[in-house]
Amino acid sequence: MTITYEFGDNLYVNTTNRCTCACEFCLRSYGDTVGNSDSLWLKQEPSREEILADIEARDLSRYPELVFCGYGEPTYRLPDILWVCDRLKEKYPIPIRMDTNGHGSVINGQNIAPLLKGRIDKLSVSLNAATPEAYVRRCHPAGGEAAYQAMLDFTKEAVKYVPFVQMTVISNIPKDEIEACRRIAEGLGAKFRVREFIES
Ligand code: SF4
Repeated sequence: MTITYEFGDNLYVNTTNRCTCACEFCLRSYGDTVGNSDSLWLKQEPSREEILADIEARDLSRYPELVFCGYGEPTYRLPDILWVCDRLKEKYPIPIRMDTNGHGSVINGQNIAPLLKGRIDKLSVSLNAATPEAYVRRCHPAGGEAAYQAMLDFTKEAVKYVPFVQMTVISNIPKDEIEACRRIAEGLGAKFRVREFIES
């Protein structure tokens, strides 16, 4: 079971394969690994203790960031991730990032943004579309077009509690839509980043 894996300079944490989206560009459509990782499909989700132990088995001084990412949507494991963050923050200065599709408040049935304060240092929210229609076409979210607004609402809340929030789009969408996405992100108070479309 692969819980932690290296990609680029960072250490990534895989806590779940569940996701509210079925994005057409999802790495999971192209294979079951990222970088040099073993398969990221989990036979069962690791417990919070297993997640912490796997992270602490690494030399955390080697990485600029620890990233809760998944091979899925990490906020499905939010209570466990927050527990792990609390333990890590007591011992290690490593900045903690979460990469999310922004559906965490819907998934958890509450506004989760305040819970991130002091635990998540950086948040990366997948925007990926400038309109609800394009979002549904590209990301196939559970909840349809309403999921787009939920993602925007979450981001607007998150900037109040997380020091660094960015929204991302994949590079292979139309250029004018990328610029429209930039305006949306900045309008919500988030940074903006275009990320390369990568296949595993
Ligand atoms: S939100 Fe992320 S994990 Fe979920 S389908 Fe899209 S790219 Fe894949």
